[in-house]
Amino acid sequence: MTRKTNDAIEVRNAVKRYGTFTALKQVSLTISDNEFFTLLGPSGCGKTTLLRMIAGFEDVTEGGIFLFGEEIEGLPPHKRPINTVFQNYALFPHMTVLDNVGFGLEMLGKSKSEARKRAGEVLEMVQLSQFSARKPSQLSGGQQQRVALARALAPRPKVLLLDEPLSALDLKLRKAMQIELKHLQKETGITFIFVTHDQEEALTMSDRVAVMSAGEVQQLGDAREIYERPRNMFVADFIGETNLLEVTVDQIDAGRAACHLGGGHRLTCDAVDGIGAGARVHMSLRPERLFLSSEPTESESLKARVRENIFIGTDISTILDLDDGPEFRVRASNSSRGTSRVFEPGTEVFVNMERGAARLLVD
Ligand code: ATP
Repeated sequence: MTRKTNDAIEVRNAVKRYGTFTALKQVSLTISDNEFFTLLGPSGCGKTTLLRMIAGFEDVTEGGIFLFGEEIEGLPPHKRPINTVFQNYALFPHMTVLDNVGFGLEMLGKSKSEARKRAGEVLEMVQLSQFSARKPSQLSGGQQQRVALARALAPRPKVLLLDEPLSALDLKLRKAMQIELKHLQKETGITFIFVTHDQEEALTMSDRVAVMSAGEVQQLGDAREIYERPRNMFVADFIGETNLLEVTVDQIDAGRAACHLGGGHRLTCDAVDGIGAGARVHMSLRPERLFLSSEPTESESLKARVRENIFIGTDISTILDLDDGPEFRVRASNSSRGTSRVFEPGTEVFVNMERGAARLLVD
């Protein structure tokens, strides 16, 4: 295949309809060669549908999908240099690990000895060489998942699609596999498109993430950008924990927006394109970027009363009632070096912000 661009995949104005139901509404995005790209969103948002369209298992109702600049609609799945790793592994139970990995290569026309050689190489890559002669039932879930991964990598696809491949694993193994997958992607240079509904997983592994809901991409960016500069209510709420406050923008000056909320509380944060003076919008305040003090530390410290402290291992989450305002959460590291002090329920305190803690949301 001749490469016309460095974008491994371009999805252009793609629409998917099932009868009268629209599962994807005009989705456009490009995924670079050698990128670890993640589609993240809640159940039913259309992630799997988009992945299946890229794989060729679903047709595109409108718009197009391009692989290195060439439209691939009409090309059947097995003719696309794209492979998929499924959640349920889909291994052949009666074949050994080596044959499971080599079988697909033989189907592609490789000789038995070539297929075995390549299968051996990829099993080494996923650290399973010593299990080559076993059957899948003699392996743990994590090991089976790695066989599925080796099998999908064996024919050297240009793009590897991974549909929630870690969701059946326990938390510890899942975290180890996240790191392993990230390394494997860099080592092979293959473009990975990963689907998950787990925001922490997406932020840990990906070069970039597309956050989806209701058949649309809500925001696309790297992990830091999505976490620190969520564009709208959906993204702010879906990624991490946040306080969502309704505010009125009073004035915009030198890139800063002065706002107020109920109870006469005032807050200033970075201005955002599309939000002008007089707008009534939501503001996201990340709990871990707020800290409590007994005296106000700045003019905009918010007066509040502690309702409850919740111990969550590494952190302590404090629920507060803002004076004439909504409930509020502040999260402090459970360490003596934490910047936020913990106060007893009933205590009057001040909530202070680190710069960048607050973000105005477009809708
Ligand atoms: P999950 O994380 O639960 O797998 P998802 O984000 O991958 O969710 P999709 O499987 O892409 O969601 O489904 C998107 C929407 O399209 C859902 O509302 C689903 O019910 C609908 N849908 C998917 N496949 C079909 C189909 N074959 N016929 C009709 N509707 C479908």
